[in-house]
Amino acid sequence: MQTHFTEAQRRNPAIQVADEVLRKCVHCGFCTATCPTYRLTGDERESPRGRISLIQNLLESGAAPSPDTVANLDHCLSCLACESTCPSGVSYRRLIDQGRELIEDKYQRPLVERTTRNFLAWLLPRDRWFRRALILGRWTRPLLNRLGRHLPVAGAMARILPDRLPGYSADNPAVLPGVYLANGEELMRVGLITGCVQSVLAPEIDAAMVRVLTRHGCTVVVPESSAAGCCGALSHHMGRTAQARDTALANLRAWDATLAQPQDSDEGKIEAVVMAASGCASMLKDYPSLLDGSKKAENISLLIKDISIILNNLVKIKNPQTRDKALTGAAVAWQSPCSLQHGMQEQNAPVELLRSLGFNVRQPRDAHLCCGSAGTYNLLQPAFAQTLGTEKMSRLLETRADMIVSGNIGCISQLRSQGRSQNATETVPPVIHLAELVDWATGGPKPPAL
Ligand code: SF4
Ligand code: SF4
Repeated sequence: MQTHFTEAQRRNPAIQVADEVLRKCVHCGFCTATCPTYRLTGDERESPRGRISLIQNLLESGAAPSPDTVANLDHCLSCLACESTCPSGVSYRRLIDQGRELIEDKYQRPLVERTTRNFLAWLLPRDRWFRRALILGRWTRPLLNRLGRHLPVAGAMARILPDRLPGYSADNPAVLPGVYLANGEELMRVGLITGCVQSVLAPEIDAAMVRVLTRHGCTVVVPESSAAGCCGALSHHMGRTAQARDTALANLRAWDATLAQPQDSDEGKIEAVVMAASGCASMLKDYPSLLDGSKKAENISLLIKDISIILNNLVKIKNPQTRDKALTGAAVAWQSPCSLQHGMQEQNAPVELLRSLGFNVRQPRDAHLCCGSAGTYNLLQPAFAQTLGTEKMSRLLETRADMIVSGNIGCISQLRSQGRSQNATETVPPVIHLAELVDWATGGPKPPAL
């Protein structure tokens, strides 16, 4: 479509990116069919096409956004289903990122909203404080529930709080920094990023990652967790680009040393970098655009692989003998995270992997739709998130699977919270991470959630 930027605006590299993306959009509206918020509201301004127009107006006019426009853009989950659907290859993420940044720069949110966002941006990447907040939240859950009538974020927090907190903490991590050697012949060597939120909510997933990878002939290198922390996705999704860049640069510095040096006396180069949360992996894949094509960002982006891809290859090579016979044929519902299926465009590897291990894999209807987790979305937009979560759980329950498996801690937390709020007459299967299931099926311990 046509754009109307001035010559001065076109000299701005960010505007050049936006202009290129905007010109690709032909306003066909195919993307509206798969947009979760358009499906819920039927409102053009809540669709990708509508949001693209809103962002174009903002960028061209340079004006401060209205509260309505802010709400329309805030309601976007960044699920990127629209990118998967678009026949013209419109990179919607480039536009919504700029839209969010512009809101952050030019719009003053009401005090409560501002304070909530500041608090979440500060708290979530700090594992010690986050854990303390979870403990406090569990003690005060009834109060949060009551507050939720006036302050939706408090109600959302009460819903999302986990039923149990793992025994691990920042001072007693489930996976210590170091080199975990492959069992038997080393087929490959990977780096593992343990991240921030997941290391508090479900550190057992990283422990399963290390076990299952080493069992399948992979040496795992875990850098100092104090150096490599949050990937920056949480602040990035809130439009805090400068904060996200600082976090990304800190991560790259931490990984620089690990990637540049031989990791132990056996030497060997890291061939891939994995993390259990596909939301974080998708963010790292996108570092080159966040950091304007930095070489280090390009390098780590190329190394990032989803655990399903690596395990799928390794399981084929090792053909594990230790498959748990009792699990053969178990019905598993695969819930594909948006960050994996749309962000990284990977749909086949997890399903192929589970099938190769003998599971009866079932996929829910409308598998392309987001579960409503989306970073901090389920806290900041609880009404949409709750509706989408309920819908997703209903579709998963239709599969009548014995368990639900996903690849992202955000989706896992959201589904577990939905499971708790479902009608008590329905049996809600446990929700676990793909790495935990493959670990269990090939000789590891039963996942704690089971
Ligand atoms: S499908 Fe693509 S080209 Fe069509 S309106 Fe949506 S973003 Fe634009
Ligand atoms: S990212 Fe998701 S919610 Fe946002 S416009 Fe695209 S499909 Fe809709």
